[in-house]
Amino acid sequence: MLVFRQPLPNVERPQMEADVVIVGGGPAGMACALRLSQLLDEHNAKNPSSPLSKENIYVLEKAREIGQHCLSGALLDPRSMRELLPGFEKEAPLDAEVKDEAVYFLTRTGKFKFPITPPPLRDHGNYVISINRFVKWLGSKVEETGITVFTGFAGSELLVEGDRVTGVRTDDKGVDKQNEPKSNFEPGYDLKSKIVILAEGSRGSLTKKLIGSFQLDRDRNPQTYGQGVKELWEVPSGRIAPGQVIYTMGWPLTTKEYGGAWIYGGKDNIVSLGFVTGLDYPDPRLDPQHVLQDFKEHPFVASLLAGGKMIRYGAKSLPYGGWWSVPQLAGNGWMILGDSAGLLNSQRLKGIHLAIKSGMLAAETAFDALVKGDSSAAVLGSYPQRVENSWIKQELWKVRNFHQGFEHGFWHGLVHAGLQQFTGGRGLHARYAATAGHRRLKKLNTLPPDGGAEAHLLNNAKGDGKLTFDKLTDLYHSGTRHEEDQPAHLVIHDTNICNTRSVTEYGNPCQHFCPANVYEMVEASDVPAGKQISLNPSNCVHCKTCDIMDPYEIITWVPPEGGGGPNYDGM
Ligand SMILES: Cc1cc2nc3c(=O)[nH]c(=O)nc-3n(C[C@H](O)[C@H](O)[C@H](O)COP(=O)(O)OP(=O)(O)OC[C@H]3O[C@@H](n4cnc5c(N)ncnc54)[C@H](O)[C@@H]3O)c2cc1C
Ligand code: SF4
Repeated sequence: MLVFRQPLPNVERPQMEADVVIVGGGPAGMACALRLSQLLDEHNAKNPSSPLSKENIYVLEKAREIGQHCLSGALLDPRSMRELLPGFEKEAPLDAEVKDEAVYFLTRTGKFKFPITPPPLRDHGNYVISINRFVKWLGSKVEETGITVFTGFAGSELLVEGDRVTGVRTDDKGVDKQNEPKSNFEPGYDLKSKIVILAEGSRGSLTKKLIGSFQLDRDRNPQTYGQGVKELWEVPSGRIAPGQVIYTMGWPLTTKEYGGAWIYGGKDNIVSLGFVTGLDYPDPRLDPQHVLQDFKEHPFVASLLAGGKMIRYGAKSLPYGGWWSVPQLAGNGWMILGDSAGLLNSQRLKGIHLAIKSGMLAAETAFDALVKGDSSAAVLGSYPQRVENSWIKQELWKVRNFHQGFEHGFWHGLVHAGLQQFTGGRGLHARYAATAGHRRLKKLNTLPPDGGAEAHLLNNAKGDGKLTFDKLTDLYHSGTRHEEDQPAHLVIHDTNICNTRSVTEYGNPCQHFCPANVYEMVEASDVPAGKQISLNPSNCVHCKTCDIMDPYEIITWVPPEGGGGPNYDGM
């Protein structure tokens, strides 16, 4: 029987007092910690008799090492880093400066190069980076300041009193598959904190709970997402220049799905390539990992990779909804940053610079709160105002209706995007509505049994082992590892639905959208459909897709025991 992870009841937990707890040590969380430290240093230099301490500021990161769970393309727009650490280029791990970009529309075997690169995809002056190495470096800067980064600790619950967030509970360690304490059991800490800052990335688990409990998305568009599946390849010398950037649209997607691919030339003949598939496709049998495999079979891509070797794999979701989907950003004792807040420009496939900037603005707000000794909504409420008055709003406002324009297909989307380009992002309506992606999945009885024009995107890829790979082969290259003896962290609230309605209505889409083969339907003679759900939680790469895309909304991703997950070294 499946047993799901939940906090153990009746356990006495160690208590710790904190001034600020930042949950998530990605670009947003690390930038926040660094900026806060800078402000405290300036304050303490001016006020030596009443210094403010950094001792009680903590970053919680669920990965075993800083940066291990970070996955991105990645091209860095340096704007916010230049504000945070002027001259950062001299010491940051930057692989190459972008010198050359091209955009292609792909058909099944042909390609059409755009004569001019559309302005949002012009990347001259941006840098090709490994987000994993970049965040590691940023984290080392944070640790140098004296702020503690607790790696291997997940924020598992928010501590809430009335309408105030008062702290964070970390994960219980040493709990067995039956949710019983083992001999090495260590209860999670209750970190009582004046300010809790959520920087958990896309579909943060604590952020989701907070948004739900306080209805922070009231009056907003529902958030929409994409799933990015990425591989790193080592290719023969001279194939792709460092700093060369290629974007594609079209094949293998049809006009019914939203998404596209990137190919970035890094240093040492390493190429980052991946495909982002919008998590609002209609056919529940579609498999985003399969989409990437199809993409590589296109003659143009296959020729770039010929003779090369795939060395790393990973997948992650990213928020697409844009400005109208941004939830309320602050309240009594809390703020939300980066991808957790949906601060990503989906038109440019860029969020790192926005995450960093949001971290800086939250740090400035937290600093004011510490100086005033008041972390109520009255003070923290200036964070959303700071976002409004910053270039984050300017950038996201111009693309506020972009993704929604594609909800009725690719060609509609292009027309809307064109209109929006000439109307400062407005297009035909002041505010385009959005539909949550899981609501757009169609039931199998309304779709062609053989998949029709989408057939090549459906079901799990087989792979040839050279250019294309099945999921388990890809997964092996993600370095994913978890403590095996622990309850499942994919909490399915009603497994009966998986074994009955989902079989006939949607064909158990979790088997397909999960990029890590966590969900399997296995033969079972004692259930009417002859199949029942089985889980391989140890495979999970923490992409959060199941929490987003399940049509019945019965899956909740919660953090597994801290330290487990992918190892995105060099990604
Ligand atoms: C496939 C793909 C390609 C992309 N390409 C680009 C690009 O080229 N350029 C660009 O600018 N942007 C790109 N983005 C977007 C960019 O990666 C994100 O906008 C950015 O990483 C957001 O930073 P963040 O700090 O908000 O979140 P993240 O980078 O996701 O970091 C969140 C951190 O929090 C940790 N965490 C989460 N929950 C908990 C918890 N409960 N307790 C403890 N720790 C927790 C995670 O382990 C992680 O380390 C891409 C995204 C994807 C998925
Ligand atoms: S189980 Fe969910 S979060 Fe984990 S890899 Fe699969 S889809 Fe992603």
